Amino acid sequence: MQRLIVTLDGPAGSGKSTVARRLADRLGVDFLDTGAMYRGLTAKALDRGIDPLQEAFAVVELARQAPLRFDWTTDPPELYVGRVHVTPRLRDRDVSASVSDVAAIPGVRQVMVEAQRRIGEEHPRLVTEGRDQGSVVFPRADVKFYLDASAAVRAKRRWEQIKEAGRKANLETIRQNIVERDRKDSTRKDAPLICPEDARTIDTSDMTLDEVVDLLEHIVKDKAVQV
Ligand code: C5P
Repeated sequence: MQRLIVTLDGPAGSGKSTVARRLADRLGVDFLDTGAMYRGLTAKALDRGIDPLQEAFAVVELARQAPLRFDWTTDPPELYVGRVHVTPRLRDRDVSASVSDVAAIPGVRQVMVEAQRRIGEEHPRLVTEGRDQGSVVFPRADVKFYLDASAAVRAKRRWEQIKEAGRKANLETIRQNIVERDRKDSTRKDAPLICPEDARTIDTSDMTLDEVVDLLEHIVKDKAVQV
């Protein structure tokens, strides 16, 4: 089977997850949401009463002892930490508020990077999205993208998603949370959010979801002739 690794990196709310999922569908390859892995570990840590800022060692220990596992038979793949199904917990407010602190812990990143590379070996035809997929985890990926959009647009998209889910949300609070998460993700020492040199940057501010997916599909098919 011909290997095809496509990476999508970018800041919070740039539409990566939805775009990556649809792109994977169109290409007929698997889809990996690496943010879900950091969120799953964060949920597990918080549920155990661990404070990620005060007890980094305990979070690393948890990452080592409670392996993350995707159920690849579902679309999108559901996430388990140990035996616990954590997908329903991933977008909870407490998880979103702490996930960047968990993701800044070097020992956690080491465990995640190893796990993601293993997934890449087991699923060699993969669209993977996150913050460090093209820069650190899969530096030799076949095609790399960096998705961006203004903070205002990204906040509005999140706000609409939350409203659609029937929950209440304040646009300005969401914008502030996004800006703060970007700041933490871009300034951390270990694998900060960067645009890999060989990535194609796509500013999605004025594009519809379909336009973005069409463009990416076109670029991938152009680059990877064998798809
Ligand atoms: O993409 P999502 O918003 O679900 O990611 C949640 C958080 O996980 C990010 O804000 C970032 O702190 C962390 N993350 C990361 N590296 C990745 C994916 C996510 O540090 N590859």
